[in-house]
Amino acid sequence: MERLQKVMAQAGVASRRKSEELILAGKVKVNGVIVKELGTRVSQTDNVEVEGVPIVKEPHVYYLLYKPRGVISTANDEKGRKTVVDFFPEIEERIFPVGRLDYDTSGVIIMTNDGEFSYLMTHPKFEIKKTYIAKVKGIPRREDLKKLERGIELEDGLTAPARVKVQSNDRKSNTAIVEITIHEGRNRQVRRMFDAIGCPVDSLRREEFGIVTARGLNAGDSRPLTIHEVKQLR
Ligand code: URA
Repeated sequence: MERLQKVMAQAGVASRRKSEELILAGKVKVNGVIVKELGTRVSQTDNVEVEGVPIVKEPHVYYLLYKPRGVISTANDEKGRKTVVDFFPEIEERIFPVGRLDYDTSGVIIMTNDGEFSYLMTHPKFEIKKTYIAKVKGIPRREDLKKLERGIELEDGLTAPARVKVQSNDRKSNTAIVEITIHEGRNRQVRRMFDAIGCPVDSLRREEFGIVTARGLNAGDSRPLTIHEVKQLR
């Protein structure tokens, strides 16, 4: 017996959190009866329907995409912009991105239909490390870099300690390339951290997500994750 929201997430209906919202909204039936209790446990033989549609237990798939800039990281976009799902026209499973990258951010993003896996990769308590390469305006001062490392006050609170490494400073163009590793995933976090030290981000790329890296991929490329990678990430 498994918790209802876990079964829904595993079936690729939505993330575990979103599944909880669907349950609370009365949109989920078990054996024909609406269930609003988050603690409800169901077995393999129970018939679960979400908004009238029986859930299908499709096999889990995992891909790594090198998202280019100018692509939205939701499964669909009301404005008709290109989404990360559009890079997988031949995939039949209902895949969605694990977490988000801004429209203007490029770099690695995992695509899957495994909601449970997505939850494990994105919930802050699991502290998955993400490494970004930021090209910033201005040359960050040593004390500002220390602030980023120790934690910096943003409007939604102090950031957790980060690892920060300057790759290069270009005094002529007054720009710097900085590598930063964080394990939180707040909205536009890296951009806001650099804004807070007066060095706004010019371009941002995610180079690593947990143990997977952009190595060997160009913008727009994708590849399946290996079983070994999925196991290591979990
Ligand atoms: N931080 C940002 O500011 N943007 C992203 O896309 C990811 C992390």
